[in-house]
Amino acid sequence: MPVETAPQADPSGSTDSPIPPEASEGRPEPAGEPVSERDRRFMRLALEAAETARAAGEVPVGAVLVRGDEVVATGFNHPIGAHDPSAHAEMAALRAAGTALSNYRLPGCELYVTLEPCLMCAGAIMHARIARVVYGARDPKTGACGSVVDAFSNGQLNHHTSVAGGVLETECGDALRSFFAERRRASREARRAALAVANAEPGAAENKQ
Ligand SMILES: [Zn+2]
Repeated sequence: MPVETAPQADPSGSTDSPIPPEASEGRPEPAGEPVSERDRRFMRLALEAAETARAAGEVPVGAVLVRGDEVVATGFNHPIGAHDPSAHAEMAALRAAGTALSNYRLPGCELYVTLEPCLMCAGAIMHARIARVVYGARDPKTGACGSVVDAFSNGQLNHHTSVAGGVLETECGDALRSFFAERRRASREARRAALAVANAEPGAAENKQ
């Protein structure tokens, strides 16, 4: 089945109307939707954005904002470097897309992100009227698409956004697992080195292997 059932860009998107601009029929179901090659293709781009975060020493999460088959914006997680708790990959992609399209609302757009959005990002996604969110790995600690809370299933909050999860879940999860494994390894080595210095004994670091 085609996944492009999201409503098309709303020409009245620049208004502040609280009226939902699109009909609800034809929206894909949040769960059980078949993963398409198109979804995998855009998720691979999100994974590339996650690698940009890793290269900057940030937790590797990446996002891609798509309209039709056009990539409007990408974003990567960078709260540490930006000194900004809101600098998640989704927020970066939403901001860049809003600038690119000169619109604070992004109806008809889809957001691909390698990790299940948190509550902050879920809120921003709803404010932007994103038609569909596709995420990779589930986040059992802060996931707001069902893992901890399910913001999008609340009909009082959300009339716009459908959700699909688990696209390239293993790859997206591996990117995070390898990052934290590397960080633990570096931390162990730093402790070992500090211990060697404290012992003030030549060769101590090697002997503690
Ligand atoms: Zn977030």
